[in-house]
Amino acid sequence: MKLSYPRKVRFECQRCAKCCGDSSHRGRNILLLDKEVGQISEATGVRPLSFVSHSSGTSPYHYRMKKRNGKCVFLDGKACRIYRIRPLICRFYPFSLRKKNGGYTFEVSDDCPGIGLGKVLDRKYFERMFKMASHAFASKALSRSTKF
Ligand code: SF4
Repeated sequence: MKLSYPRKVRFECQRCAKCCGDSSHRGRNILLLDKEVGQISEATGVRPLSFVSHSSGTSPYHYRMKKRNGKCVFLDGKACRIYRIRPLICRFYPFSLRKKNGGYTFEVSDDCPGIGLGKVLDRKYFERMFKMASHAFASKALSRSTKF
C-alpha cells in the first residue's frame, strides 16, 4: 500500500487551541463519526444533539461539532475537556489523509503554529496515524473515504 507523507516536516503541538475553532480567515469544521458521538455522550453524560448537529455530504462523518463563539463547545480556555476521547479529526490535526493515485497521502495544514517546531516526523509517525484511522473506520469505509 502506497503511503505518501510530507518529508522532513517538524511538528510540536503548542497547545494554542487554534485548531479548536474558527480563525479570522477560515471556519473550522470538526466532523465526527457516529461512534465518536456515542463515546463522547457516554463519557460526558451530555445528550448528542447538545454538542453535535447532523452533517450531510461529509460521509463517513455524519455529525459536526457545535461551536460557541466560534470555538468547540468542549474547549475550556485552551484545554480540551474531552482530550482523552477527542475525535479522530482532532488527533490528526494539522494533518489530513486523502486517497490519491491508488494510495494514501498525508497533507499538512500550514495554519498550525506547531509546524516547523520540534522533531522531524518520520514514516513511523505517519504509519501510526494511518493505523489509528484504519481502526476507526471499517476497511470498506476506509477504501471509500477520500478524506478524514
Ligand atoms: S493549532 Fe497546531 S499547535 Fe495549536 S493546538 Fe492545534 S495542533 Fe497544536
